[in-house]
Amino acid sequence: MQTLSKPQTLWIGNNEVASRSEATLSVVNPATEEPIGFIPRGSASDVDIAVAEAQKARRSWSSLSPVDRKKALAGVANAIVAHRDEIARLLTLENGKPLAQSQVEIDLIVNLAHEYGELAVNFRSGHQETRDGELAFNQLEPRGVAACIVPWNFPLVVAFETLLPNLAVGNTVVLKPSEKTPLATRFIFEKALAQLPPGVCNLVLGDGPSAGEPLVRHHDVDVVMFIGSVRTGKQIGRIAGEQLKKVILELGGKDPFIVDETVEIAAAAKLCASASYANCGQICTSTERVYVQRGIFEPFVAALEKETRALRVGDGIEAGTEIGPLIDDLQLRTVQRHVESAKAHGAEIRAGGSRLDRRGYFFAPTIMTNVSHEMDVMREETFGPIAPVMPFDDFDEAIALANDSVYGLASIVCTNDAKRAIYAIQHLQAGMIKINTNRGKTPGTSSEPRKASGLGYGYGVEVLYELTTQKSVHWRGSLT
Ligand code: NAD
Repeated sequence: MQTLSKPQTLWIGNNEVASRSEATLSVVNPATEEPIGFIPRGSASDVDIAVAEAQKARRSWSSLSPVDRKKALAGVANAIVAHRDEIARLLTLENGKPLAQSQVEIDLIVNLAHEYGELAVNFRSGHQETRDGELAFNQLEPRGVAACIVPWNFPLVVAFETLLPNLAVGNTVVLKPSEKTPLATRFIFEKALAQLPPGVCNLVLGDGPSAGEPLVRHHDVDVVMFIGSVRTGKQIGRIAGEQLKKVILELGGKDPFIVDETVEIAAAAKLCASASYANCGQICTSTERVYVQRGIFEPFVAALEKETRALRVGDGIEAGTEIGPLIDDLQLRTVQRHVESAKAHGAEIRAGGSRLDRRGYFFAPTIMTNVSHEMDVMREETFGPIAPVMPFDDFDEAIALANDSVYGLASIVCTNDAKRAIYAIQHLQAGMIKINTNRGKTPGTSSEPRKASGLGYGYGVEVLYELTTQKSVHWRGSLT
């Protein structure tokens, strides 16, 4: 591992490669506001080198049997496990999340490596037909070189959610992590992904304009898998559209959380707190709007206040921290803007409401009532530890409020009334519906986001179809 005082090198063809760019970007610990490392700002020439390596490797990688690709991914998983503590520390330093949650993130990518290895072996085309003397079938083919561009909120999970399905189906990859959190990913390339044949998995560094956009535009990139904001997703979608290039976009959300009067209030409040504040509210499927049936509104808010005030906010590296800081000043200002503008329009703060009086981008977990759909905090993605709570009278109204959004990523419904649960599943405009739980992406499931939240399947066996293409073969035994 290089010292963090030198700019990180790229990782291309299983070698350290210096960037062609002289410019650097610093990586900052959000808990201390101190720089902890530097990366090159990246350039189109870096991208050219990485894509050329990925192109060189594609034929041999795609010719490996799925069983061999599964074994290779298992080797990567084992190498990650061997470096679990170092990776977790780096992740906490660059992202701010509590150390225990960084360890969970590493365990998740290890499980994902095994899961996609397994899927690779069992993945096959479903269409076959035979007639007298004739055979027709579909043949699956990897798409080629995949550009994977990912955000900072779960740097490892999102990177591996793009890398692994591509590797499983035989695509080779060039990954660009977020410029805000590149260090743990860079470390994993050198310590674990280097187990793969050279050129199969390559890393470029930099920001969107310097490295991300040249990667999307590159004529030898066959598929783009992007996870990030709606704004960037639309830019990437436009470029891909112009080039008629396959693109998968997994974007932001404004997830609703509906609570009706049939549930135990304390349990629903506990679930709501974890859905709203985990990872400091910086999850694409964080709860960002809470709708509570009027009869239990005040007791629910009181229970949520209790949960919220009990949370330990602090530096993720310190034991016992439950909520870390926001990623940076930009994110802090977005959260402050949403809270201040809601207050100016009559919202009431029931807990938190401001930045903590200490160094670092800390914002107190916050509850707001007296909110309306005219406020930014109920319409735009906040990506912070904010729970704006609004009452509803009947269940139909709750579903209409939940659907009153440009986003459609996921929704949580708390009810013990099975009829209402079924109604919610049928009528909520979101790719993922969670009833009485915040669990998502269970192996075996998959979903496509609705509305502005994205395009295409982002996980599960369905993503393997997105990353491959099929050729239909029509074969008559002999021509006489
Ligand atoms: P972002 O869109 O600003 O950046 C994401 C990545 O895109 C970064 O690597 C960035 O450098 C790159 N990028 C920026 N401009 C680019 C351009 N013009 N061309 C190519 N690449 C470019 O998003 P962010 O702030 O890093 O991440 C937060 C967002 O990600 C939130 O909206 C969140 O909801 C979303 N997200 C979605 C999911 C999901 O699965 N749906 C998961 C995690 C995060």
